[in-house]
Amino acid sequence: MLTVKWTEKGGWEAPQLRPYGPLDLMPTASCIHYATQAFEGMKGYRGVDGKLRLFRPDLNSKRMTLSSTRIALPSFPPEELEELIKAFVAVDCAKWLPDPNTFIYIRPAIIASGAALGVQKPREATLFIIAVLFPPMDSPNGLRLLASKEDMGTRAWPGGHGWSKVGANYGPTLQAQGEARERGFDQILWLLGKEGRVTEAGASNFFIVWKHKYTGRLQLVTAPLGDKIILDGVTRRSVLELSRARLTHQPSEIRREVQHLEKVEVVEEDFTIHDLVEAHAEGRLVEAFACGTAFFVAPIAYIQYVDEGIDVPMTAATEDGGKAGPYASAIKTWLKEIMYGRVQHPWGVVV
Ligand code: PMP
Repeated sequence: MLTVKWTEKGGWEAPQLRPYGPLDLMPTASCIHYATQAFEGMKGYRGVDGKLRLFRPDLNSKRMTLSSTRIALPSFPPEELEELIKAFVAVDCAKWLPDPNTFIYIRPAIIASGAALGVQKPREATLFIIAVLFPPMDSPNGLRLLASKEDMGTRAWPGGHGWSKVGANYGPTLQAQGEARERGFDQILWLLGKEGRVTEAGASNFFIVWKHKYTGRLQLVTAPLGDKIILDGVTRRSVLELSRARLTHQPSEIRREVQHLEKVEVVEEDFTIHDLVEAHAEGRLVEAFACGTAFFVAPIAYIQYVDEGIDVPMTAATEDGGKAGPYASAIKTWLKEIMYGRVQHPWGVVV
């Protein structure tokens, strides 16, 4: 693991690389009592060319600053954090990934580590980076989502902090997630407000493809960032950018692998669970998927909202032998190509 200490007086100290082990914390440490903790989640990928890559680490490093300053912790300069993560991955993670097409999960975190029971702005902090191996969390048959009801809580709301990656956002969702798992679902589809705005799925962003109710045009839709409610996911951003570049053109200009697909409009707009139920009933819902670093691009097979069940179509075969919607399948392939170095792309950063 890599650790860097910070004090209000002395600023950031030199980083230390040391064996994975316990952190030195007093029981009065602020992070234990007041959730003064922020984190990131990213992966290191062993490419088909044997090289190790990170996927858009600049975005994770910048987001870490947004999150840590939200809870009055110091910012670690994003460019330096990126360098630190690269060095950590190069030195420590390489040996854990002998084979191509494998990944390791990297967790940078920052905590208010000073002993201070008083509710106040932290004067000491520790940044640390650890890495863990886990198998791909692919869902070949698609995820089953349970749409949240008001008594399950709200993950993110106007004026709140769901847009930042602070630990305080996650603990309060675990009860609902536990209920969903007990009832045979994989994740919660988080709704917001009386109108049931669809925001995120578990700790992932959420996309649908549907035919628009009035224009009849095919759209790829996800909740917007403008009102500062949901998390600005690195995968979400990448899905939007790739889709705008590769799926919105006339069929004749479209890449060969998606020539069989109709072009889509890519929109970041609010929609509600009622819009989804209606689109499904009218046969306008084409597909749905969740996306994030941990779950990657995960097709959705089914959504339960109170007594309504939405069977989401999954008509395409994916390259890993599973099923997905045709757009999710193409997007998944494009992202994997970059992550595992099958194509050279500026988002795949070699360490
Ligand atoms: N929403 C939430 C609430 C998350 O925790 C995550 C995971 N970081 C995401 C979306 C997806 O973000 P990313 O693509 O950067 O992993």
